[in-house]
Amino acid sequence: MGARNGQAFLDRLRQQPPTLYVDGARVEDPTTHPATRNMARSLAGLYDLQFDPMHRDLLTYEENGERYATSFMVPRTPEDLAKIGEAHRLRANYALGFLGRAPDYMNANVMAAGMASDYFEACEGSGEIGSGRNFGENMRRYYEYVRDHDLCLTHALTNPQVNRARMASELPDPYIALGIVRETEEGVVVRGARMLATLPIADEILIFPSTVIKENGDRSRYAIGFGLPTNAPGLSFQCREPFDTGRDVEDHPLSSRFDEQDAFVIFDDVLVPWERVFLMYDMNLANQAYARTDAVLHMAYQVVNLKIAKTEAMLGVAQSIVNTIGSGQFQHVQGKVSELILTLEIMKGLEVAARAGATVNQYGVLTPARGPLDAARNYYPSVYPRLQEIIQLLGASGIIMMPGKADREGPMGPFIEKYLQAAGANAEERLRLFRLAWDMTLSSFGARQNLYEKHFFGDPIRMSSALYESYDKQPYVDRISAFLKRGQTELVGADD
Ligand SMILES: Cc1cc2nc3c(=O)[nH]c(=O)nc-3n(C[C@H](O)[C@H](O)[C@H](O)COP(=O)(O)OP(=O)(O)OC[C@H]3O[C@@H](n4cnc5c(N)ncnc54)[C@H](O)[C@@H]3O)c2cc1C
Repeated sequence: MGARNGQAFLDRLRQQPPTLYVDGARVEDPTTHPATRNMARSLAGLYDLQFDPMHRDLLTYEENGERYATSFMVPRTPEDLAKIGEAHRLRANYALGFLGRAPDYMNANVMAAGMASDYFEACEGSGEIGSGRNFGENMRRYYEYVRDHDLCLTHALTNPQVNRARMASELPDPYIALGIVRETEEGVVVRGARMLATLPIADEILIFPSTVIKENGDRSRYAIGFGLPTNAPGLSFQCREPFDTGRDVEDHPLSSRFDEQDAFVIFDDVLVPWERVFLMYDMNLANQAYARTDAVLHMAYQVVNLKIAKTEAMLGVAQSIVNTIGSGQFQHVQGKVSELILTLEIMKGLEVAARAGATVNQYGVLTPARGPLDAARNYYPSVYPRLQEIIQLLGASGIIMMPGKADREGPMGPFIEKYLQAAGANAEERLRLFRLAWDMTLSSFGARQNLYEKHFFGDPIRMSSALYESYDKQPYVDRISAFLKRGQTELVGADD
């Protein structure tokens, strides 16, 4: 019980594998299948970090004589929040920030939801078998279960992209979108699909309400929240084409280790036991679940720390390229690196501001401030493509003219050694660096990162609309009105 090591993660994954399909075939054992084994090993390494004497105190915390992963910790004090943030950054550094859905993200989700169990308790259920099912208690117990076993979660929020002009109930089949089919004494039977779950080599899937369900009326079969083992009967994951193609780490430094995978999730009449149901039918509760439990803020706090680590890594690569090819004296090169510095410092500032403005929410959880986190999650997706572009502009042809390890060790090796040396590195060092730059910005893995950063926290268009709607702009409008009415002799600032 409590924090587990990498071997325990791999053992469970082998014994209870999720039902994954890759390239037309079932993955019998994700710990040995070529598409998933390296990622599984990387995740195991992340779990092992918790037992590294250097990091144990930061990455775990003690409660009732047990040590748990810090990302499950309920923050009560500013020191707790600082520790959680630091732990997020340390774990993010493990993959240079390129592992978007490391378990910490969902741990923050279940922590906040578990503490907000009263929110789920308000759900009245179906009025039939599903009434009085203690949904709040279920949510809280689920958090404790996941924390106690240090489980790895995936999640899927959005409906299949069939027709965005129609409500789920208006699609050609009412069960294209995931919905409740019927209730039994054992639980709820659900059918349909969810569009995307990153990291399907997980122990559990959390199905939280899709952020905005639009249906006529307040009751909807699509309003549901539950958690299930990823090997539940009837549940399957169709993976996208793998980016880990089995190349050496030197050739594909990120994609060979950190292809977290994305999968389409199919529920073919899956039974969700009652104790795993957190919410049903209630559209209002479903649509506000992330916001009103503050789960979105704790997840965004993980994200801002992760993006700091990612930007630091991109800055490190950019400056290493400059050092390697001796381009640092050019002003535009300095300006481009400075853009990365600006992004990094803005994100670091937003992280500090989120902590400085933290308040205890109605569930007793010290919750980072919304304003800086909303700013971070809207700002970073807009600037991320530029960060990739800067690395491409700085590296230029070097990011494509990169003979691989086999070339370097083959008959052309001496030529490669001579002609691909650089001012600040020998050929091997230079090629390793440029291959990292390529995997960050240009490979299939790098291209996915571009799409990921734009969408992983939701549609950027609707996120900025939500920011516009929720942000209190009135004080500034009032100030301008007062300024416009001010007489010529009144002092500037007198109305503040
Ligand atoms: C690499 C990657 C990983 C992801 N990982 C996860 C994950 O782990 N878990 C998870 O739950 N989700 C994940 N997502 C999904 C992510 O949440 C969605 O991509 C995001 O919410 C946008 O939804 P969508 O992709 O369905 O786009 P759509 O809603 O289909 O939008 C497509 C286009 O139509 C526009 N549009 C559609 N509806 C409206 C509207 N009502 N108003 C205005 N414009 C509209 C959008 O702006 C966009 O331009 C991931 C996505 C990517 C790309």
